[in-house]
Amino acid sequence: MDADRELAATLGVPEGELDALLEQFQHETFEGRPYRHLSDARHGVERGTAIVEGVVVRGFPSIPRTLVLDPGVPKHFEGRLTIEEKRNGYNVRIARIDGDVLGFTRSGYLCPYTTNTVRELLEPDAFFDDHPDHMLCGELIGPENPYTTHDYPEVDSARIEVFDVRHRESGTPLAVDRRREICAEYGLAEVPSFGEYDPEAAPEAVAEVIADLDREGREGVVMQSLDGTRQLKYTTSATHRADLEHAFSLPFDYGRDFLFSRIIREVFQAVECDRTAGESRQRAQKLGESILLPAIETVRAVQRGESVGEEHTVRGDPAVIEALLTHLRDQRLSLEIKRDTRADGKRIVTFVKVAAATRDNTREYLDGKLRDE
Ligand code: ATP
Ligand code: MG
Repeated sequence: MDADRELAATLGVPEGELDALLEQFQHETFEGRPYRHLSDARHGVERGTAIVEGVVVRGFPSIPRTLVLDPGVPKHFEGRLTIEEKRNGYNVRIARIDGDVLGFTRSGYLCPYTTNTVRELLEPDAFFDDHPDHMLCGELIGPENPYTTHDYPEVDSARIEVFDVRHRESGTPLAVDRRREICAEYGLAEVPSFGEYDPEAAPEAVAEVIADLDREGREGVVMQSLDGTRQLKYTTSATHRADLEHAFSLPFDYGRDFLFSRIIREVFQAVECDRTAGESRQRAQKLGESILLPAIETVRAVQRGESVGEEHTVRGDPAVIEALLTHLRDQRLSLEIKRDTRADGKRIVTFVKVAAATRDNTREYLDGKLRDE
């Protein structure tokens, strides 16, 4: 079939592999329209790739990480690069399909909250009128969203910052200059930038930026070649600790890989950046606290009979909030509503995504269950 050949070409897979690939897509509906998405990278197609009424929305690529700035950065880039802040929220891709602006999460879900927030916070129609084949890629940050909770003093509720403009089907990025021009032209907020550098000068520049970000508890940086095609990430010690704190507050819900990777990041950063044994010792003490203290707190909470899990607050049109709660429950999340109020016509809900594995295991161990180890 011609349509199949075209879809295979668009996705960049041999036609003979198309059926096997499509079988991996998950089928969903959003606002009455059927769509499918790929939750894991398959056949070389990025995780999060979605197909809405035959229209392909390419997944956002995974950004490699370097554990050492020197020689990690100069090895990865051949020419000049820009250093931008890595914002700690969640990845959204914004596309216009059949006249509707849609917001996709990292794994390719059309999330009611994300889509509505995109429509409220951005006015992307002028952009899509001029660039119908492109999508905006950005980070949704701020304290009020269903997926992440990192606070930024300058963000009250939610905000979207663009870091890429990409071709919707192929995922090919625009050059950094062009992206900046477009964002300025259409009034789209961008991630903060720390300037452009030659590869040889970048490690020192990043180290300075990272030291400042670390003091402010911010996440890190993403470097990008000026043509947009190469990216590289590097994160602060504050983030490694915050990740560990979060994971060890729900110790039986997080995989061992998650924990090990954070510790390894910290090891290499210490080797490259610490100037004295005292600095490394202090790092070790802080790391230990970020592991043990939240876990102890959680076991105590279970002991007191409290619920444990990630807490989030969302604010929006009552119909959107209802659709969001249904969407989350459809993904088999068990939610406990802690507060449910209204202000200025908006519904504001605080809920906990119940961490069942942590709750159940903790209860059992407190009751004396043995471990086979
Ligand atoms: P993966 O890279 O496989 O998605 P991950 O979800 O753990 O893994 P992160 O470690 O958070 O990814 O790093 C990549 C993500 O960082 C991007 O998907 C994007 O959402 C986010 N991000 C925040 N700020 C930027 C930025 N300035 N440039 C590019 N990405 C950014
Ligand atoms: Mg992230």
